[in-house]
Amino acid sequence: MRVTVLGGFAGLASTGAGASGYLVQHAGTSIVVDLGPGTLAELRRQVDIRSLDAIIVSHGHLDHVSDLPGLHHVLRFSPTPMPRRVPLLVPPGAARQFVLWRDAMPGWDDEALAIAEYDPSVESTVGGITVRFAPTVHPLQAWATRFSAPGAGSIGYTADTGPSADLVPLFQGIGVLIAEATLIEADEPAETRGHLTAAEAGSLAGRARASTLILCHRWEESDESTLLAEASIGFAGPILLSAPGLKVDADQSRA
Ligand SMILES: [Zn+2]
Ligand SMILES: [Zn+2]
Repeated sequence: MRVTVLGGFAGLASTGAGASGYLVQHAGTSIVVDLGPGTLAELRRQVDIRSLDAIIVSHGHLDHVSDLPGLHHVLRFSPTPMPRRVPLLVPPGAARQFVLWRDAMPGWDDEALAIAEYDPSVESTVGGITVRFAPTVHPLQAWATRFSAPGAGSIGYTADTGPSADLVPLFQGIGVLIAEATLIEADEPAETRGHLTAAEAGSLAGRARASTLILCHRWEESDESTLLAEASIGFAGPILLSAPGLKVDADQSRA
């Protein structure tokens, strides 16, 4: 199983890099997780978008979803027809947001993307990949995800979360952990905060016994060496910085 970073930065417009978006692939199955601003072009560089099996949305904040209308447009109106609709799987209770958005946008219909809510209380299966969810702590309810397949390893994604979320059970023994590192220093108390520091991302990876950590949702203004140093306090394994086109294969022994 492989993850390809499509953007990996926080906020809405970074220099030459998109925001939240990840492509998880295994044995012919391709899942997109979030599609924030500036990620669609990288997605098209990486995969034939007509072959996508599902798009999973962690939460409806704009920095995670704003390229979805663009994806609809290219799927719907490209001269190369798409073979089938792509499921757009959104959090419980969030379908209304996306239906309103669809209905307000001229030209967005149901012909390319099929909006449906996932049930985070049960495992979902997309092609050969199993998806599990856990709630994060964030101003808008977001869902962390774990992707796995027998013999192919596992990939986890924190989405947006504060440190008080209980994500270690979801990520226990994970191969690749994509953890948000929005902050370097935090002003707000940990109990109510909706984002992680780089040190907290490292601590989560350490407690979950992750193999590899990717720091994502980082500001381009954040000093890269400081992010890495802070994360390494709690995690002794390899740490990578998210960037468009970064590919990481999951350790196959860690499903
Ligand atoms: Zn958010
Ligand atoms: Zn975000």
